[in-house]
Amino acid sequence: MSGFAPVIALVGRPNVGKSTLFNRITKSRDAIVADLPGLTRDRHYGQARLARRSFIVIDTGGFEPEASEGIAREMARQTQQAVAEADVVLFVVDARAGLSAQDHDIAAYLRRLGKPCVLVANKAEGMREGAQLAEFYELGLGEVVPVSAAHGQGVRSMLERALAPIVWPADDDADETPEPAAQDVIRLAVAGRPNVGKSTLINAWLGEERLVAFDLPGTTRDAIRVPFERQGRRFELIDTAGLRRKGRVFQAVEKFSVVKTLQAIESAHVVLLLLDATQGVTEQDAHIAGFILDSGRSVVLAVNKWDAVDDYQRELVRRSIEARLGFLRFAPLHTVSARRRQGIDALWPSIIRAHASAMVKMPTPTLTRLLHEAVAFQAPPKSGAFRPKLRYAHQGGQNPPVIVIHGNSLEHVGDAYRRYLEARFRKAFDLVGTPLRIELRTQD
Ligand code: GDP
Ligand code: GDP
Repeated sequence: MSGFAPVIALVGRPNVGKSTLFNRITKSRDAIVADLPGLTRDRHYGQARLARRSFIVIDTGGFEPEASEGIAREMARQTQQAVAEADVVLFVVDARAGLSAQDHDIAAYLRRLGKPCVLVANKAEGMREGAQLAEFYELGLGEVVPVSAAHGQGVRSMLERALAPIVWPADDDADETPEPAAQDVIRLAVAGRPNVGKSTLINAWLGEERLVAFDLPGTTRDAIRVPFERQGRRFELIDTAGLRRKGRVFQAVEKFSVVKTLQAIESAHVVLLLLDATQGVTEQDAHIAGFILDSGRSVVLAVNKWDAVDDYQRELVRRSIEARLGFLRFAPLHTVSARRRQGIDALWPSIIRAHASAMVKMPTPTLTRLLHEAVAFQAPPKSGAFRPKLRYAHQGGQNPPVIVIHGNSLEHVGDAYRRYLEARFRKAFDLVGTPLRIELRTQD
């Protein structure tokens, strides 16, 4: 059974290079989603990988241990919650600027917290170890790990060291033969802001069932899962944002936690993103949606409380989904009323289909034939003196499916043509609810 993805929090005074380090650690995903219209990205939460295992990174921004007023106070609260929920803290200091009074304050805070902590001296490119870093030992946080976020030096080994004590499973991968039993189970997370109706929906779905007592709070790394069956398929509901079973019903027993939501998304196959029709799509909805996209998970959208809105409001909701969640256009969209149990059974076929799409197997000969057909129907446009040549394709991964296309001058393939290819592959394999990634590999 897989557990939750670990969480690393970056902490340190302003200007030491936290966001540079954050971008360095999470960059591969960034490139994929960089230019999607409608995608608001919360720059503070990101997803990253180390040797085929995913983890979550939080950039705490300018960290102030002592909360001040208003918005700054709320930010400090969020930051402290994030740090409290993190498995490891990376305390970043500036190797060039040397120790500051603020570093001492933060160190004192971290020592009180008693979390695993790695002291990272950034901007250490071209420095000989020893002399310049010696003063940081004064912070009493053990060994100083030199890195250069700007140049990418030492970052990987620093991460290996930070994550070494944590055991968590690798991602699903096409190159592996997964245990058949494990693959049959669809892991489902119901995600959404507080009060959109997650517990009402889950209780409407499962409340009357005698569920196997399964929600044992095991080690901290174990996700809490509730097994059940629907339409002949086995499912596991992943605990999201503090939903826990109390007797026969689910209740939100903890305050909303971004970190827990992200972890549940990470360990799911399919995420049901629940929206509230009475509110439309809010900034927070868009952030959660952006993270689902980053994570590569399949997604089904459901607008809840459809009973509580009139035709005019329904139209507004549809428009706000188009404007703000346009990047999830591949996801099936449902309108439901959890309270009245309307439309909620129709979600199962969509969830099952989204899972099947995520796990699709695409044989190389079929992919290559489809690629040649697509090129014959419409060749990639010339870019200057170059005409990209697309030669063959193979599947590079599952959940989400990745198609790797090999050829020459592929760096000249534009976004429009990439979208054209994606649409053709989607249609051919009937992919719904899953992102599809296309990687171009040039041989010259
Ligand atoms: P933050 O406020 O802690 O998020 O810091 P930023 O990531 O915004 O970086 C602050 C400044 O330090 C920027 O001008 C960066 O270009 C610079 N910087 C970040 N990492 C490095 C590094 O590894 N070496 C050097 N020389 N400069 C860096
Ligand atoms: P959660 O925080 O996402 O788990 O949300 P809850 O399930 O606790 O629901 C929040 C509020 O929305 C409660 O007052 C519910 O009764 C109400 N609610 C949930 N589903 C519906 C629905 O389909 N229609 C209406 N009108 N209200 C709903």
